Amino acid sequence: MTNDADGKSAREKAKAIAEQRRAERRQRKRLCVLCGAEESDKNPLGAHPEGIGPVCRDEAGCQSRRPAAR
Ligand SMILES: [Zn+2]
Repeated sequence: MTNDADGKSAREKAKAIAEQRRAERRQRKRLCVLCGAEESDKNPLGAHPEGIGPVCRDEAGCQSRRPAAR
């Protein structure tokens, strides 16, 4: 019985920590993985189709901000 209670509280605790981390991540500004622009109202980020991370929804603007790598 005591073990059950302990296990439950530990799980609840882990859940609370995960929740907190998720909230922190949501508050932090995301950066476009391609051009490095900060997410803002003017420059909303969306998910990259290949799943490499957040990228600008404005593809043309994103491309113009990217350093000429190639
Ligand atoms: Zn971008």
